Amino acid sequence: MHELSIAQAVVERVENLRNERHSSRVSRVVLQVGSLAGIDCTALRQALPLVVENTALRKTEWKIVPVAAKIHCSACGCESQPENCFAVCAHCESADVRIIQGRELLIETVTLIEED
Ligand SMILES: [Zn+2]
Repeated sequence: MHELSIAQAVVERVENLRNERHSSRVSRVVLQVGSLAGIDCTALRQALPLVVENTALRKTEWKIVPVAAKIHCSACGCESQPENCFAVCAHCESADVRIIQGRELLIETVTLIEED
């Protein structure tokens, strides 16, 4: 499962951050998943608890926020929201477009808890 390796990579990054800050727990993580990132949010949501099972993140609350894709048209300069990655401009139907948002997987917020 593709999302399982993504979940592992995300958990690793959050764990690194937690270690860097010397925090004992992470209460909440917010992830932004672009609609063109090729990630199934439901599968990712299911994969996270499996990955964190024996880690310090097992009680962490995960929030996955889908981010709508956005393209910029080089022909008319308009921005629009494509349905898929084979997008054309919604205004002039030019295929000369650049994806400016929607391919990303971002760790938006990590809420750390200090305990001693
Ligand atoms: Zn256009």
